[in-house]
Amino acid sequence: MTETVKKPIKASEMEPSFKYEISKMHGGEKLMRCFQCGTCTSDCPVARFSDTYRPRQIIRMAQLGLKKRVLDSDTLWLCAACFTCTDRCPQDVEVASVIRVLRNLAVEQGHFPQVFKDQASCILESGYAYKIPELRLKKREGSGLPPLPKGNPESVCKTLRGVGFLKHIKKEGE
Ligand code: SF4
Ligand code: SF4
Repeated sequence: MTETVKKPIKASEMEPSFKYEISKMHGGEKLMRCFQCGTCTSDCPVARFSDTYRPRQIIRMAQLGLKKRVLDSDTLWLCAACFTCTDRCPQDVEVASVIRVLRNLAVEQGHFPQVFKDQASCILESGYAYKIPELRLKKREGSGLPPLPKGNPESVCKTLRGVGFLKHIKKEGE
């Protein structure tokens, strides 16, 4: 993945149809209403602590058709999906939903952080998002706590296979 925002924009990297692609998807319909007021960024709790995460810029990149930049962007994955931006946008853009649409498109292209791939692998293996260390399980037992309920990953696996997600979480070389 590459850092996206500060590089000069070349006309050749703009895909005008990208905004229509997003606008056709559930949650992305109001993308073109954004008039770049910046309210989403100024109220975003993640932007407050990040030098690079700016929802307004993500929306603008999407409007301009900078498809590769926005889908390759690491910052896309910093959104905490708190929906503050959606609540505050004067144009009712549904910013958080547009970001979800962009993430879904990024995943379709196999562009998403390894940490999420690892989490998905854990869910598929055990039903838990994190592998719980054996030592911790023993400590639990030693403290007289009941065993953790068994995860049931089969139905998740079926769904993920159905939507073609499994191929994205195989590690390189597997
Ligand atoms: S608050 Fe809404 S209109 Fe303003 S920049 Fe963000 S998305 Fe655009
Ligand atoms: S939903 Fe994402 S972009 Fe919107 S305010 Fe929350 S963290 Fe920021």
